[in-house]
Amino acid sequence: MAAPGDGLEAVEAEGSAGLRGTSGIAVVLPSGPAVPAPLCPHGPTLLFVKVTQGKEETRRFYACSACRDRKDCNFFQWEDEKLSGARLAAREAHNRRCQPPLSRRQCVERYLKFIKLPLTQRKFCQRCQQLLLPDDWGQHSEHQVLGDVSVTQLRKPSQLLYPLENKKTNAQYLFADRSCQFLVDLLSTLGFRRVLCVGTPRLHELIRLTASADRNANIKSLLLDIDFRYSQFYMEDSFCHYNMFNHHFFDGKTALEVCRAFLQEDKGKGVIMVTDPPFGGLVEPLAITFKKLIAMWKEGQSQDDSDKELPIFWIFPYFFESRICQFFPSFRMLDYQVDYDNHALYKHGKTGRKQSPVRIFTNIPLNKIILPTEEGYRFCSLCQRYVSLENQHCEHCNSCPSKDGRKWNHCFLCKKCVKPSWIHCSICNHCAVPDHSCQGPKDGCFICGELDHKRSTCPNIATSKRANKAVRKQKQRKSNNMKMETTKGQSMNHTSATRRKKRRERAHQYLCS
Ligand code: SAH
Ligand code: ZN
Ligand code: ZN
Ligand code: ZN
Ligand code: ZN
Repeated sequence: MAAPGDGLEAVEAEGSAGLRGTSGIAVVLPSGPAVPAPLCPHGPTLLFVKVTQGKEETRRFYACSACRDRKDCNFFQWEDEKLSGARLAAREAHNRRCQPPLSRRQCVERYLKFIKLPLTQRKFCQRCQQLLLPDDWGQHSEHQVLGDVSVTQLRKPSQLLYPLENKKTNAQYLFADRSCQFLVDLLSTLGFRRVLCVGTPRLHELIRLTASADRNANIKSLLLDIDFRYSQFYMEDSFCHYNMFNHHFFDGKTALEVCRAFLQEDKGKGVIMVTDPPFGGLVEPLAITFKKLIAMWKEGQSQDDSDKELPIFWIFPYFFESRICQFFPSFRMLDYQVDYDNHALYKHGKTGRKQSPVRIFTNIPLNKIILPTEEGYRFCSLCQRYVSLENQHCEHCNSCPSKDGRKWNHCFLCKKCVKPSWIHCSICNHCAVPDHSCQGPKDGCFICGELDHKRSTCPNIATSKRANKAVRKQKQRKSNNMKMETTKGQSMNHTSATRRKKRRERAHQYLCS
């Protein structure tokens, strides 16, 4: 999911363009036998390269896979940098210190104790985002503590916990009830019995609620998420602390085996993966991870099923379509607009300000997926799929061409349908926004030279800043010798008054933008 302040157009440009021919930071995909990457608290780091006007710099560097903000994880190492034994030891110690205070097992034991307590003794510290056992009360006496935590509340952790709002690293945008219910109904209509939820805590929760309410709804869910707070509420077989940008299981082999068993159960039949990654993230590492999960599922298949694909729902903005299909050519985009609770921009039409740009990409044939007519979808018998009401079939394109839910217009010169706001420009010889400049690259974006946006909305603004910062920091560090790696890891207690204040400011900024 996108960060609200980031500006949709910027992400849109990035989504469709990628970094080729532009400037910023690109991830270097592994080619040939992999050199093991150095580790940060979030598992193996990724190799990045700075790109300036389409040209890669020669010196590449490792940085955190999960945190796009150096405030969250400041790992930096040049690819060719040799570290002294002392520095490696310091790094290892730091990585250990950053791990969650409790092991997965300890969390489960605490939970089992917690649910045995009488209602009046079941407390949740809102400051520390933690379920409290009587022994902990003293430590949290000054904090805001919620009492009488009911079984119903325990079953809805995504409502008990506040959504993380760290813009760049792991902003959490939770599904609106309507979208979440739609997904659960769809999964059950399609006959799935197991759902691998990758970064979808609220969907995981609703699947489990549905299953416990209706014994016939024989459907299981396993959540993989980097948000460690969820480990307080789930047994080891229904939650793994996981980084989806490098396929890292924080609890090692035990957790990996949980995931493997889940995918391979019943020879891999009846399982689907549903993912809603933060879309400030890079598509490439996500695609690599998903391919690893697919491979894990495939290992459990019988020979005669070898041409089958693991069914997947990848929830992402529509303008990433070409990038996603580059990695997964069998994926198609549904017109369904996914709505979020805590994201005003993406709430459904009438209540939110804009329509949601978030869609579902899937390898399930689109004709099997029924979209709700009462929410403005209709079946196109020519395309054999459900589309938005406004997405009218174009007889020239022979498709329902709209991507954004509005009616698009056919341009006979471009021989395709284009956004309603575009007009054909005889100088550029294609359709574009009316106030575009026809003078070629010089007039494009100051940062990357692309024509379709200005500096202020350049998708590479953040990444190019990060690159410069990274390089500056590295220079600083030389004089500072070893004073690196000082960030806190994923701990449960990281809310503070200032954090909450920042959150309010951000919300304000975002609502007023
Ligand atoms: N719409 C979903 C939530 C999507 S928000 C729902 O309602 O269920 C993105 C989710 O991905 C969050 O739960 C966040 O904690 C998780 N996430 C962010 N970065 C991650 C990473 N590197 N690895 C795994 N999960 C991550
Ligand atoms: Zn990290
Ligand atoms: Zn507390
Ligand atoms: Zn057309
Ligand atoms: Zn045109």
